[in-house]
Amino acid sequence: MIEILNPTELTRARETGALVARVLHTLKDRSTVGTNLLDIDRWAKELIVEAGALSCYVDYAPSFGRGPFGHHICTAVNDAVLHGRPHDYALADGDLLTLDLAVSLGGVAADAAISFVVGDARPPESVAMIEVTERALAAGIAAARPGARVGDLSHAIGTVLGDAGYPINTEFGGHGIGSTMHQDPHVSNTGRPGRGYRLRPGLLLALEPWVMQDTAELVTDADGWTLRSATGCRTAHSEHTIAITDDGAEILTLPRPS
Ligand code: MG
Repeated sequence: MIEILNPTELTRARETGALVARVLHTLKDRSTVGTNLLDIDRWAKELIVEAGALSCYVDYAPSFGRGPFGHHICTAVNDAVLHGRPHDYALADGDLLTLDLAVSLGGVAADAAISFVVGDARPPESVAMIEVTERALAAGIAAARPGARVGDLSHAIGTVLGDAGYPINTEFGGHGIGSTMHQDPHVSNTGRPGRGYRLRPGLLLALEPWVMQDTAELVTDADGWTLRSATGCRTAHSEHTIAITDDGAEILTLPRPS
């Protein structure tokens, strides 16, 4: 199903997007050396509840996961990349952490992810990989406008990732979003321009380029959820929810000045 939001729903989507950004960046600020992933999950729950929002993750139980996710945020460390299930782990200096959060407020969902290095260490390969996913995300957003096709966005994202030398996995990518977290159309992180669904004003998309340093192959953790790189290499992931407007795209999950 592809939803086109009306102006009232778009106003709500902006509020949801702002909340997702605020929670993510609050949690990023609190993610320092020694912080436990279970504390990040607990803080995420508190911030979501306090805002009167609902987690899109707690009861999420798709075919590829083992039962309901049961947590409020995805925390993926180093070789973990997607659906990282919070567990008892204290962050170390130089860890590459991805926080991925989707909530629903007023009946509209928003979804975003940020990757960053914890502490003072700045491992160059990790910093570069994060920067490439951010650049790929920006390229996908720049290609988003009414009349453009999903393949144009996929191509823009995939060109940045591929030119930087990263293998591209096509099992998981971006998606439509609206009254629920995951909707059509699927937005692959590589594709051919001029193909696929034609974008219309009022469509919400979550774009999410992610890469692994030296492989496109994923393995599932013993927890039945967390997806890791098959080689144990590090990974990075950047995601925004955008709304297609009359003349381009609006990023809904950018942090707002407080
Ligand atoms: Mg997503």
